[in-house]
Amino acid sequence: MNFYSENWFEATQKFVRNANGAGVLSFYKAPSMQYEVSCVMIGSGDDKIVINSGVHGIEGYFGSAAQNMFLSNMLPKISEKALDKFSIVLIHVINGWGMQNRTREVFDKKNGGLIDLNRNFGIDFSKPENLPGNPKYAIAHPVLLSKPDKIIKKEAIKNFRQKHLKDGVWAAISNGQYYEPYGLFYGGCETLPENKTTMRIYDDIMGNNAKSLISVGLHTGLGRFYRKRAEVTSTVLVSHPETHKNTLFFKNTLTPNVPIVPDNDAVNAPTLLGDLVDCLENRYKFKNIPIYTADFEVGTGEFPIMSPVYKRMDMGDARYDLLHYGEINHETWANLTESWYPSDKRWKDAALRHAEVLFNDIINYMNKASR
Ligand SMILES: [Zn+2]
Repeated sequence: MNFYSENWFEATQKFVRNANGAGVLSFYKAPSMQYEVSCVMIGSGDDKIVINSGVHGIEGYFGSAAQNMFLSNMLPKISEKALDKFSIVLIHVINGWGMQNRTREVFDKKNGGLIDLNRNFGIDFSKPENLPGNPKYAIAHPVLLSKPDKIIKKEAIKNFRQKHLKDGVWAAISNGQYYEPYGLFYGGCETLPENKTTMRIYDDIMGNNAKSLISVGLHTGLGRFYRKRAEVTSTVLVSHPETHKNTLFFKNTLTPNVPIVPDNDAVNAPTLLGDLVDCLENRYKFKNIPIYTADFEVGTGEFPIMSPVYKRMDMGDARYDLLHYGEINHETWANLTESWYPSDKRWKDAALRHAEVLFNDIINYMNKASR
């Protein structure tokens, strides 16, 4: 069976068909949202495990495909006892608009700008002066948003990266910013309907009785794709340092067969602003229960040096096109897609093999913990 889809409608149809009978299906949609979020809860336990997909539209249908594979091939591996102890919930494609429009972000119809949902979670937008700052982003903005040009711009970004790799400016580009609506990794000026909807889903999952929460988001774009060998990397990205208990839980207990990438800079505060995993940890802190969150990343970059340059250039070019011509140039679009969701069928197969490793780890944990 082909788990991948070509568009949101096909993906949702596949998900609903696979989820039907497996558990309790629900659909969520704020009035202003064009695409609903489907959700299936399997099992009845108070220990919640959530796997979400599609926060970033440009990452295509990998997350959806992985969830479909889980539903059709892997469910029988979960023991009955495990389904008494745990509820496993799949949230399907949070950013349907981005999926259909092949952008990472959601277009904010009300305020303008392209908003990265994963920089918009849990931010206090009530007072503009309280918004997190990211002055280093401003240094990179002009070169990223400069006129698309395959040779000159690429060289300029490459040089910029070399110059600013050690002073934190390059890294700051992706951390999130709240003042350039068409800049990269913009977090918006209010909580978007997609994110309110996501919070409502999580609140419903947690209810009053949740004893623990494990949440994993499915993503692509970080890591490598070795085209010749048709192999990809996969990692579990935790937003905590190496020795933090959450990092150790993923490393030793939940996903021992997936390499863990800790964030050693996140000692006192998270590095990424407004991302879902930190938002969840804060939101349910008052419950005083174990909460473990992370993102699963499948690699797409072919060249370890140039891939970050191309990715940032493609993102900047797409914005330049939008601002100046009202639409994204076809070539820019194709490059952007290829950077985050390779068309190569062998990439797609390899990505699912890695998702299978992740899911097998999670299922083993469930079965062991409920024996
Ligand atoms: Zn992503």
